Amino acid sequence: MDENKVGALIVAAGSGSRMGGGVPKQYRKVGGVPVIARAFDALASHPAIHGVHIVVGAGQEGLLDEALGEDRRPATITPGGATRRESVKAGLEAIAALPPTRVLIHDAARPFLHAAVVDRLLAALDEADGAIPTLPVVDTLVRADDGVLGDNVARDGLVRAQTPQAFRFDTILAAHRGWFGDSEPTDDAQVARAAGHTVLAVSGDIMLEKLTHEADFAVAEARLGAVMTSRTGMGYDVHAFAEGDHVMLCGLKIPHTQALAGHSDADVGLHAITDALLGTIADGDIGSHFPPSDPRWKGADSGTFLQHAASLVAARGGIIDHVDLTIICEAPKVGPHRQAMRERVAELLALPIGRVSVKATTTERLGFTGRREGMAAQAAASVRLPVE
Ligand code: MG
Repeated sequence: MDENKVGALIVAAGSGSRMGGGVPKQYRKVGGVPVIARAFDALASHPAIHGVHIVVGAGQEGLLDEALGEDRRPATITPGGATRRESVKAGLEAIAALPPTRVLIHDAARPFLHAAVVDRLLAALDEADGAIPTLPVVDTLVRADDGVLGDNVARDGLVRAQTPQAFRFDTILAAHRGWFGDSEPTDDAQVARAAGHTVLAVSGDIMLEKLTHEADFAVAEARLGAVMTSRTGMGYDVHAFAEGDHVMLCGLKIPHTQALAGHSDADVGLHAITDALLGTIADGDIGSHFPPSDPRWKGADSGTFLQHAASLVAARGGIIDHVDLTIICEAPKVGPHRQAMRERVAELLALPIGRVSVKATTTERLGFTGRREGMAAQAAASVRLPVE
């Protein structure tokens, strides 16, 4: 057995009931990335960790799939139990077939895990069977009953327990199997200690705070905002008129006396926005992602191109703040369709409509658009990306 083999178990079985309705907190996004995906990335990218396992809540498999995307591959996904303890035990039993020597058990709702915390925990496991990150208690502690203060509680020697919590794998598995406590433990250190093991406290991290209440999300966004940078991308596209009875503009079929010629559906509006988005992540242009020489894109719905560009932005942890499109032509008239175009682009990008602008102009009958030989469009996209 490889003495250094370390596994990680993310406990994501909570329903997030304290947040009150909606999507469970571990699947909500912070800085454009689902909370659990951030926890996963932090563990998976640590050089000592060989596999990340997940315990998922009943009926949340689809949410998990969507949150992890295509590139994050858990080693195992196990259905959770009725309590946190049962969920952890189920996850440990699933890992037991290919046991690591050490395991980190982490709450999905703690997205900001620095590698230094993992390093401290693993180092501490050389001295004891368990180790957890802790923070000192800085506030005065006092009992309160129905809003009336009672006695103060001495805070000497008190710390706040965080996760991930690290254990020798065999030790924590046996401790969970043999749990006999009367009350439900709120973390795994309690289970290990109940079985007689020593658990060490190492320095935690303020960034590791659990996202529990609505306000915690605002704080997390603000912290991340300090490490996000704004990018602006531009896009420009032209298509010539050809015979036909409609043009595709922003995903809508607009009746016209001519059509636009092109390999795909020739939607100049969506092409310009797609290029603007690709510009924000410096990832080539629409032609490099969807070459006109590729028969797959013949007559293609340009909404596919736009959504692909948006998915590339999302994969970088980017947030699309705004897109602004200008359509340049003498005809057809854009005004009557402007609102529907905004709605369609907003729908394709999953943005509120207030973050999508569609404008139109003529070129006063000058140039190729003025001579009604074709249409042009230009777009700007504003995106926030994590600082590289
Ligand atoms: Mg084009």
